Amino acid sequence: MDNVRLKWRIFMFLLGFCALLIVMLWLMQTVLLTETYKLIRRMEIREAVALVEKNINQSDLQAIIADLGTEKEILVMPAQEFLVPDRPNPGNPNRRPMESVTETKDFTLSDGRNLSLTFHAIITPMDATISTLRFQLYIISGVMLFCAVVLAVIIARRISKPIEKISEGAKSLAVGRYDTHFTGHGFLEIRELSDTLNIAVGELSQTDNLRRELMANVSHDLRTPLALIYSYAEMMHDFPAEVTPEQTQLIMDESKRLASLVNDILDVSQLEAGVMELHASVYNLTESLSETISRVTELAGSDGYAIHFEHDGERYVNADEIKITQVFYNLLLNAIHYSGDGKIITVRQDTAGNKVRISVIDCGKGITQKNIPHIWERYYRGSETHKRAIAGTGLGLSIVKKIIELHGGTYGVISEQSKGSTFWFELDIA
Ligand code: ADP
Repeated sequence: MDNVRLKWRIFMFLLGFCALLIVMLWLMQTVLLTETYKLIRRMEIREAVALVEKNINQSDLQAIIADLGTEKEILVMPAQEFLVPDRPNPGNPNRRPMESVTETKDFTLSDGRNLSLTFHAIITPMDATISTLRFQLYIISGVMLFCAVVLAVIIARRISKPIEKISEGAKSLAVGRYDTHFTGHGFLEIRELSDTLNIAVGELSQTDNLRRELMANVSHDLRTPLALIYSYAEMMHDFPAEVTPEQTQLIMDESKRLASLVNDILDVSQLEAGVMELHASVYNLTESLSETISRVTELAGSDGYAIHFEHDGERYVNADEIKITQVFYNLLLNAIHYSGDGKIITVRQDTAGNKVRISVIDCGKGITQKNIPHIWERYYRGSETHKRAIAGTGLGLSIVKKIIELHGGTYGVISEQSKGSTFWFELDIA
Protein backbone atom coordinates (compact mmCIF):
# COMPACT_ATOMS: atom_id res chain seq x y z
CA MET A 1 0.00 0.00 0.00
CA ASP A 2 3.00 2.25 0.64
CA ASN A 3 3.89 2.64 -2.99
CA VAL A 4 0.41 3.73 -4.07
CA ARG A 5 0.39 7.34 -5.17
CA LEU A 6 -1.37 9.77 -2.89
CA LYS A 7 -3.94 10.78 -5.50
CA TRP A 8 -4.96 7.17 -6.10
CA ARG A 9 -5.25 6.58 -2.43
CA ILE A 10 -7.47 9.64 -2.03
CA PHE A 11 -9.55 8.42 -4.95
CA MET A 12 -9.89 4.97 -3.41
CA PHE A 13 -10.92 6.42 -0.06
CA LEU A 14 -13.50 8.65 -1.66
CA LEU A 15 -14.85 5.81 -3.74
CA GLY A 16 -15.06 3.56 -0.68
CA PHE A 17 -16.87 6.29 1.21
CA CYS A 18 -19.38 6.75 -1.62
CA ALA A 19 -19.93 2.99 -1.86
CA LEU A 20 -20.64 2.84 1.87
CA LEU A 21 -23.11 5.71 1.62
CA ILE A 22 -24.89 4.16 -1.35
CA VAL A 23 -25.09 0.72 0.28
CA MET A 24 -26.57 2.32 3.41
CA LEU A 25 -29.07 4.26 1.35
CA TRP A 26 -30.11 1.12 -0.58
CA LEU A 27 -30.52 -0.86 2.59
CA MET A 28 -32.50 1.79 4.42
CA GLN A 29 -34.63 2.98 1.55
CA THR A 30 -35.53 -0.24 -0.18
CA VAL A 31 -34.86 -3.36 1.87
CA LEU A 32 -35.69 -1.99 5.30
CA LEU A 33 -38.22 0.65 4.30
CA THR A 34 -41.37 -1.42 4.98
CA GLU A 35 -39.95 -2.73 8.24
CA THR A 36 -39.05 0.77 9.38
CA TYR A 37 -42.49 2.00 8.39
CA LYS A 38 -44.17 -0.79 10.37
CA LEU A 39 -42.03 0.02 13.34
CA ILE A 40 -43.07 3.67 13.15
CA ARG A 41 -46.75 2.68 12.86
CA ARG A 42 -46.39 0.49 15.93
CA MET A 43 -44.88 3.36 17.81
CA GLU A 44 -47.73 5.60 16.71
CA ILE A 45 -50.25 3.06 17.99
CA ARG A 46 -48.44 2.98 21.33
CA GLU A 47 -48.62 6.76 21.50
CA ALA A 48 -52.33 6.64 20.60
CA VAL A 49 -52.94 4.09 23.38
CA ALA A 50 -51.21 6.36 25.87
CA LEU A 51 -53.24 9.35 24.67
CA VAL A 52 -56.54 7.49 25.01
CA GLU A 53 -55.53 6.14 28.41
CA LYS A 54 -54.84 9.66 29.61
CA ASN A 55 -58.16 10.98 28.38
CA ILE A 56 -60.31 7.88 28.97
CA ASN A 57 -62.68 9.70 31.37
CA GLN A 58 -62.72 12.99 29.52
CA SER A 59 -65.77 14.20 27.71
CA ASP A 60 -63.79 14.92 24.52
CA LEU A 61 -62.57 11.33 24.16
CA GLN A 62 -64.75 10.97 21.08
CA ALA A 63 -63.11 13.97 19.46
CA ILE A 64 -59.61 12.68 20.30
CA ILE A 65 -60.42 9.31 18.75
CA ALA A 66 -61.82 11.06 15.68
CA ASP A 67 -58.60 13.11 15.40
CA LEU A 68 -56.49 9.95 15.59
CA GLY A 69 -58.46 8.66 12.65
CA THR A 70 -58.03 11.72 10.48
CA GLU A 71 -54.50 12.76 11.47
CA LYS A 72 -52.74 9.44 12.08
CA GLU A 73 -55.10 7.11 10.21
CA ILE A 74 -55.52 5.05 13.33
CA LEU A 75 -58.91 3.49 13.77
CA VAL A 76 -60.08 3.13 17.38
CA MET A 77 -63.25 1.12 18.18
CA PRO A 78 -64.65 -1.15 20.88
CA ALA A 79 -62.94 -4.53 20.63
CA GLN A 80 -66.18 -6.49 20.28
CA GLU A 81 -67.19 -4.45 17.26
CA PHE A 82 -63.84 -4.84 15.54
CA LEU A 83 -63.57 -7.19 12.64
CA VAL A 84 -60.31 -7.52 10.79
CA PRO A 85 -61.20 -5.68 7.65
CA ASP A 86 -60.51 -7.87 4.73
CA ARG A 87 -59.87 -5.05 2.41
CA PRO A 88 -58.60 -5.82 -1.01
CA ASN A 89 -55.91 -3.59 -2.42
CA PRO A 90 -57.96 -0.75 -3.84
CA GLY A 91 -55.78 -0.01 -6.84
CA ASN A 92 -55.23 -3.56 -7.95
CA PRO A 93 -57.46 -6.36 -6.67
CA ASN A 94 -54.93 -9.00 -7.71
CA ARG A 95 -52.23 -7.73 -5.45
CA ARG A 96 -51.88 -8.82 -1.86
CA PRO A 97 -54.27 -7.18 0.59
CA MET A 98 -53.09 -4.27 2.64
CA GLU A 99 -51.22 -5.08 5.82
CA SER A 100 -52.15 -3.56 9.14
CA VAL A 101 -51.04 -3.33 12.77
CA THR A 102 -53.60 -3.95 15.47
CA GLU A 103 -53.47 -3.71 19.22
CA THR A 104 -56.27 -4.24 21.77
CA LYS A 105 -56.14 -2.65 25.17
CA ASP A 106 -58.41 -2.76 28.27
CA PHE A 107 -59.18 0.47 30.10
CA THR A 108 -60.98 0.94 33.43
CA LEU A 109 -63.45 3.81 33.49
CA SER A 110 -64.10 6.00 36.53
CA ASP A 111 -67.40 4.22 37.27
CA GLY A 112 -65.57 0.88 37.44
CA ARG A 113 -66.67 -0.45 34.06
CA ASN A 114 -64.13 -2.01 31.74
CA LEU A 115 -63.71 -0.82 28.19
CA SER A 116 -61.77 -2.82 25.68
CA LEU A 117 -60.59 -0.82 22.67
CA THR A 118 -58.87 -1.98 19.49
CA PHE A 119 -56.38 0.28 17.75
CA HIS A 120 -55.93 -0.42 14.11
CA ALA A 121 -53.41 1.19 11.76
CA ILE A 122 -53.22 0.40 8.06
CA ILE A 123 -49.85 -0.14 6.48
CA THR A 124 -50.03 1.42 3.05
CA PRO A 125 -48.17 -0.78 0.53
CA MET A 126 -44.73 0.58 -0.30
CA ASP A 127 -44.10 -1.08 -3.65
CA ALA A 128 -44.65 2.07 -5.71
CA THR A 129 -42.57 4.16 -3.31
CA ILE A 130 -39.76 1.59 -3.32
CA SER A 131 -39.53 1.53 -7.08
CA THR A 132 -39.49 5.35 -7.12
CA LEU A 133 -36.74 5.39 -4.54
CA ARG A 134 -34.79 2.74 -6.42
CA PHE A 135 -34.93 4.83 -9.53
CA GLN A 136 -33.74 7.86 -7.57
CA LEU A 137 -30.95 5.80 -6.03
CA TYR A 138 -29.66 4.88 -9.49
CA ILE A 139 -29.41 8.55 -10.25
CA ILE A 140 -27.85 9.36 -6.85
CA SER A 141 -25.27 6.55 -7.28
CA GLY A 142 -24.29 7.88 -10.69
CA VAL A 143 -24.02 11.46 -9.46
CA MET A 144 -22.00 10.41 -6.40
CA LEU A 145 -19.59 8.36 -8.47
CA PHE A 146 -19.12 11.29 -10.77
CA CYS A 147 -18.61 13.64 -7.79
CA ALA A 148 -16.08 11.20 -6.26
CA VAL A 149 -14.03 11.25 -9.45
CA VAL A 150 -14.18 15.05 -9.75
CA LEU A 151 -13.37 15.52 -6.05
CA ALA A 152 -10.51 13.04 -6.22
CA VAL A 153 -9.04 14.90 -9.17
CA ILE A 154 -9.38 18.27 -7.43
CA ILE A 155 -7.96 17.03 -4.13
CA ALA A 156 -5.15 15.24 -5.91
CA ARG A 157 -4.32 18.47 -7.70
CA ARG A 158 -4.36 20.48 -4.53
CA ILE A 159 -2.53 18.03 -2.30
CA SER A 160 -0.37 15.73 -4.31
CA LYS A 161 0.75 18.19 -6.98
CA PRO A 162 2.44 20.56 -4.51
CA ILE A 163 3.93 17.61 -2.62
CA GLU A 164 5.29 16.17 -5.86
CA LYS A 165 6.77 19.58 -6.66
CA ILE A 166 8.36 19.83 -3.24
CA SER A 167 9.76 16.35 -3.58
CA GLU A 168 11.27 17.24 -6.96
CA GLY A 169 12.82 20.34 -5.39
CA ALA A 170 14.22 18.25 -2.55
CA LYS A 171 15.78 15.88 -5.07
CA SER A 172 17.56 18.72 -6.82
CA LEU A 173 18.62 20.06 -3.42
CA ALA A 174 20.09 16.66 -2.61
CA VAL A 175 22.44 16.96 -5.58
CA GLY A 176 23.72 20.29 -4.33
CA ARG A 177 21.56 22.81 -6.15
CA TYR A 178 21.20 25.40 -3.44
CA ASP A 179 19.30 27.83 -5.67
CA THR A 180 16.22 25.61 -5.34
CA HIS A 181 13.19 27.55 -4.14
CA PHE A 182 10.17 25.80 -2.68
CA THR A 183 6.75 27.29 -3.32
CA GLY A 184 4.03 25.43 -1.48
CA HIS A 185 0.42 26.46 -1.88
CA GLY A 186 -3.00 24.99 -1.27
CA PHE A 187 -2.76 24.10 2.38
CA LEU A 188 -1.23 25.62 5.47
CA GLU A 189 0.80 22.48 6.19
CA ILE A 190 2.23 22.43 2.69
CA ARG A 191 3.09 26.12 2.88
CA GLU A 192 4.76 25.56 6.23
CA LEU A 193 6.69 22.62 4.86
CA SER A 194 7.97 24.64 1.94
CA ASP A 195 8.84 27.57 4.22
CA THR A 196 10.81 25.21 6.45
CA LEU A 197 12.56 23.77 3.43
CA ASN A 198 13.40 27.26 2.19
CA ILE A 199 14.97 28.01 5.55
CA ALA A 200 16.92 24.75 5.32
CA VAL A 201 18.07 25.69 1.81
CA GLY A 202 19.23 29.06 3.16
CA GLU A 203 21.16 27.36 5.94
CA LEU A 204 22.63 24.78 3.62
CA SER A 205 23.76 27.29 1.05
CA GLN A 206 25.20 29.47 3.81
CA THR A 207 27.11 26.47 5.16
CA ASP A 208 28.26 25.69 1.67
CA ASN A 209 29.42 29.27 1.11
CA LEU A 210 31.19 29.25 4.46
CA ARG A 211 32.87 25.99 3.60
CA ARG A 212 34.16 27.51 0.37
CA GLU A 213 35.16 30.68 2.19
CA LEU A 214 36.88 28.61 4.87
CA MET A 215 38.86 26.69 2.27
CA ALA A 216 39.89 29.93 0.57
CA ASN A 217 40.73 31.72 3.81
CA VAL A 218 42.50 28.81 5.42
CA SER A 219 44.61 28.05 2.40
CA HIS A 220 45.50 31.72 2.07
CA ASP A 221 46.21 32.15 5.77
CA LEU A 222 48.28 29.01 5.95
CA ARG A 223 50.16 29.61 2.75
CA THR A 224 51.43 33.12 3.60
CA PRO A 225 53.16 32.35 6.90
CA LEU A 226 54.39 29.02 5.57
CA ALA A 227 55.97 30.74 2.56
CA LEU A 228 57.59 33.29 4.86
CA ILE A 229 58.90 30.63 7.21
CA TYR A 230 60.20 28.62 4.33
CA SER A 231 62.00 31.53 2.68
CA TYR A 232 63.64 32.64 5.93
CA ALA A 233 64.64 29.12 6.84
CA GLU A 234 66.06 28.67 3.37
CA MET A 235 68.05 31.88 3.75
CA MET A 236 69.38 30.73 7.12
CA HIS A 237 70.29 27.44 5.62
CA ASP A 238 72.15 29.04 2.72
CA PHE A 239 73.84 31.80 4.74
CA PRO A 240 74.18 30.46 8.26
CA ALA A 241 76.66 33.15 9.19
CA GLU A 242 74.20 35.92 8.44
CA VAL A 243 71.34 34.78 10.61
CA THR A 244 69.95 37.71 12.57
CA PRO A 245 67.70 37.60 15.65
CA GLU A 246 64.99 39.44 13.63
CA GLN A 247 64.84 36.57 11.19
CA THR A 248 64.48 33.93 13.87
CA GLN A 249 61.93 36.14 15.62
CA LEU A 250 59.95 36.34 12.39
CA ILE A 251 59.95 32.58 12.03
CA MET A 252 58.79 32.27 15.62
CA ASP A 253 56.07 34.89 15.15
CA GLU A 254 54.76 33.31 11.99
CA SER A 255 54.77 29.84 13.58
CA LYS A 256 52.79 31.26 16.49
CA ARG A 257 50.32 32.82 14.11
CA LEU A 258 49.97 29.50 12.32
CA ALA A 259 49.39 27.71 15.59
CA SER A 260 46.76 30.21 16.73
CA LEU A 261 45.05 30.05 13.36
CA VAL A 262 44.91 26.27 13.49
CA ASN A 263 43.56 26.43 17.05
CA ASP A 264 40.90 28.95 16.09
CA ILE A 265 39.81 26.85 13.13
CA LEU A 266 39.59 23.79 15.37
CA ASP A 267 37.55 25.72 17.94
CA VAL A 268 35.20 27.09 15.34
CA SER A 269 34.64 23.74 13.70
CA GLN A 270 34.05 22.11 17.09
CA LEU A 271 31.61 24.85 18.07
CA GLU A 272 29.91 24.62 14.69
CA ALA A 273 29.56 20.87 14.92
CA GLY A 274 28.14 21.29 18.41
CA VAL A 275 30.64 18.82 19.84
CA MET A 276 32.35 21.29 22.13
CA GLU A 277 31.52 20.40 25.70
CA LEU A 278 31.35 22.81 28.57
CA HIS A 279 33.10 21.82 31.78
CA ALA A 280 31.28 24.24 34.00
CA SER A 281 32.17 24.80 37.64
CA VAL A 282 31.77 27.66 40.07
CA TYR A 283 34.87 29.84 40.07
CA ASN A 284 36.04 33.32 40.97
CA LEU A 285 35.56 35.26 37.74
CA THR A 286 37.15 38.46 39.08
CA GLU A 287 40.33 36.66 40.07
CA SER A 288 40.49 34.78 36.79
CA LEU A 289 40.09 37.99 34.75
CA SER A 290 42.74 39.68 36.85
CA GLU A 291 45.20 36.86 36.14
CA THR A 292 44.56 37.06 32.39
CA ILE A 293 45.05 40.82 32.51
CA SER A 294 48.45 40.39 34.24
CA ARG A 295 49.56 37.86 31.66
CA VAL A 296 48.50 40.05 28.72
CA THR A 297 50.06 43.12 30.31
CA GLU A 298 53.34 41.22 30.57
CA LEU A 299 53.22 40.54 26.84
CA ALA A 300 51.90 43.88 25.64
CA GLY A 301 53.25 46.16 28.36
CA SER A 302 56.57 46.52 26.66
CA ASP A 303 54.76 48.03 23.67
CA GLY A 304 53.30 50.70 25.90
CA TYR A 305 49.82 49.20 26.41
CA ALA A 306 48.15 49.67 29.77
CA ILE A 307 45.15 47.69 30.96
CA HIS A 308 43.06 49.03 33.85
CA PHE A 309 40.76 46.74 35.74
CA GLU A 310 37.80 48.29 37.55
CA HIS A 311 35.63 45.88 39.49
CA ASP A 312 32.87 45.98 42.05
CA GLY A 313 34.02 43.13 44.25
CA GLU A 314 34.65 39.44 43.68
CA ARG A 315 32.02 37.62 41.64
CA TYR A 316 31.60 33.90 41.16
CA VAL A 317 30.06 32.32 38.09
CA ASN A 318 29.15 28.77 37.13
CA ALA A 319 30.92 28.47 33.81
CA ASP A 320 33.74 26.83 31.90
CA GLU A 321 36.73 28.85 33.10
CA ILE A 322 38.98 27.96 30.16
CA LYS A 323 36.34 28.96 27.61
CA ILE A 324 35.40 32.20 29.37
CA THR A 325 39.10 33.05 29.64
CA GLN A 326 39.36 32.47 25.91
CA VAL A 327 36.44 34.85 25.33
CA PHE A 328 38.02 37.49 27.50
CA TYR A 329 41.42 36.95 25.92
CA ASN A 330 39.98 37.37 22.42
CA LEU A 331 38.25 40.63 23.43
CA LEU A 332 41.37 41.90 25.15
CA LEU A 333 43.63 41.09 22.20
CA ASN A 334 41.19 42.78 19.83
CA ALA A 335 41.17 45.85 22.07
CA ILE A 336 44.96 45.89 21.93
CA HIS A 337 45.05 45.32 18.18
CA TYR A 338 42.51 48.00 17.42
CA SER A 339 43.23 50.51 20.16
CA GLY A 340 45.41 52.61 17.89
CA ASP A 341 47.58 55.18 19.57
CA GLY A 342 45.49 55.40 22.73
CA LYS A 343 47.04 52.22 24.08
CA ILE A 344 44.85 52.38 27.19
CA ILE A 345 42.36 49.63 27.70
CA THR A 346 39.83 49.49 30.49
CA VAL A 347 38.21 46.31 31.72
CA ARG A 348 35.10 46.82 33.87
CA GLN A 349 33.13 44.39 35.93
CA ASP A 350 29.64 45.56 36.91
CA THR A 351 26.86 43.73 38.65
CA ALA A 352 23.21 44.20 37.85
CA GLY A 353 20.75 41.94 39.63
CA ASN A 354 22.02 38.39 39.32
CA LYS A 355 24.16 39.16 36.31
CA VAL A 356 27.75 40.19 36.05
CA ARG A 357 28.80 42.22 33.02
CA ILE A 358 32.36 42.34 31.77
CA SER A 359 33.22 45.22 29.43
CA VAL A 360 36.42 45.64 27.50
CA ILE A 361 36.79 49.29 26.51
CA ASP A 362 39.31 50.67 24.05
CA CYS A 363 39.83 54.14 22.64
CA GLY A 364 40.62 52.92 19.16
CA LYS A 365 39.04 53.81 15.90
CA GLY A 366 35.77 52.06 16.59
CA ILE A 367 33.54 50.22 14.15
CA THR A 368 31.12 51.73 11.68
CA GLN A 369 27.41 51.11 12.38
CA LYS A 370 27.02 49.20 9.17
CA ASN A 371 29.82 46.79 10.08
CA ILE A 372 28.67 46.09 13.63
CA PRO A 373 26.22 43.31 12.73
CA HIS A 374 28.89 41.51 10.69
CA ILE A 375 31.81 41.41 13.09
CA TRP A 376 30.39 38.34 14.85
CA GLU A 377 30.38 36.33 11.65
CA ARG A 378 33.06 33.82 10.95
CA TYR A 379 35.91 35.13 8.82
CA TYR A 380 34.65 38.67 8.90
CA ARG A 381 37.52 41.07 9.01
CA GLY A 382 37.24 44.80 8.83
CA SER A 383 38.47 45.72 5.37
CA GLU A 384 40.88 48.34 6.66
CA THR A 385 42.57 45.94 9.10
CA HIS A 386 44.68 44.01 6.64
CA LYS A 387 47.92 45.51 7.74
CA ARG A 388 50.26 42.63 8.47
CA ALA A 389 50.97 43.70 12.02
CA ILE A 390 47.39 43.31 13.17
CA ALA A 391 46.07 40.73 10.76
CA GLY A 392 43.72 38.49 12.69
CA THR A 393 41.98 35.33 11.65
CA GLY A 394 38.51 36.85 11.64
CA LEU A 395 37.43 34.03 13.92
CA GLY A 396 37.94 35.62 17.34
CA LEU A 397 34.52 37.23 17.75
CA SER A 398 32.63 34.28 16.27
CA ILE A 399 34.27 32.12 18.93
CA VAL A 400 33.24 34.68 21.58
CA LYS A 401 29.68 34.58 20.33
CA LYS A 402 29.44 30.79 20.28
CA ILE A 403 30.96 30.31 23.72
CA ILE A 404 28.73 32.94 25.36
CA GLU A 405 25.68 31.48 23.63
CA LEU A 406 26.68 28.04 24.88
CA HIS A 407 26.72 29.48 28.41
CA GLY A 408 23.28 31.02 27.92
CA GLY A 409 24.78 34.49 28.36
CA THR A 410 24.45 37.67 26.33
CA TYR A 411 27.05 39.74 24.52
CA GLY A 412 27.30 42.86 22.43
CA VAL A 413 29.24 45.89 21.40
CA ILE A 414 28.79 49.63 21.66
CA SER A 415 31.05 51.44 19.30
CA GLU A 416 31.49 54.90 17.94
CA GLN A 417 33.81 55.62 15.09
CA SER A 418 37.13 57.18 16.04
CA LYS A 419 36.06 57.17 19.72
CA GLY A 420 36.48 53.50 20.55
CA SER A 421 34.55 50.34 21.24
CA THR A 422 33.11 48.62 24.27
CA PHE A 423 32.75 44.89 23.89
CA TRP A 424 30.77 43.24 26.67
CA PHE A 425 29.35 39.95 27.80
CA GLU A 426 27.07 38.99 30.67
CA LEU A 427 26.87 35.82 32.73
CA ASP A 428 24.65 34.67 35.58
CA ILE A 429 26.20 35.01 39.01
CA ALA A 430 26.54 31.61 40.72
P1 ADP B 1 40.10 39.41 13.81
O1 ADP B 1 40.94 38.20 13.94
O2 ADP B 1 40.11 40.02 12.45
O3 ADP B 1 40.31 40.40 14.92
P2 ADP B 1 37.57 39.08 15.05
O4 ADP B 1 36.46 38.12 14.80
O5 ADP B 1 38.17 39.09 16.40
O6 ADP B 1 38.64 38.83 13.94
O7 ADP B 1 37.05 40.52 14.70
C1 ADP B 1 36.34 40.74 13.51
C2 ADP B 1 36.45 42.19 13.09
O8 ADP B 1 35.82 43.05 14.02
C3 ADP B 1 37.87 42.70 13.03
O9 ADP B 1 38.48 42.41 11.80
C4 ADP B 1 37.68 44.19 13.24
O10 ADP B 1 37.35 44.83 12.02
C5 ADP B 1 36.48 44.29 14.12
N1 ADP B 1 36.87 44.50 15.53
C6 ADP B 1 36.93 43.58 16.50
N2 ADP B 1 37.28 44.14 17.69
C7 ADP B 1 37.43 45.46 17.46
C8 ADP B 1 37.77 46.58 18.28
N3 ADP B 1 38.04 46.46 19.59
N4 ADP B 1 37.81 47.81 17.68
C9 ADP B 1 37.55 47.94 16.38
N5 ADP B 1 37.21 46.93 15.56
C10 ADP B 1 37.15 45.68 16.07
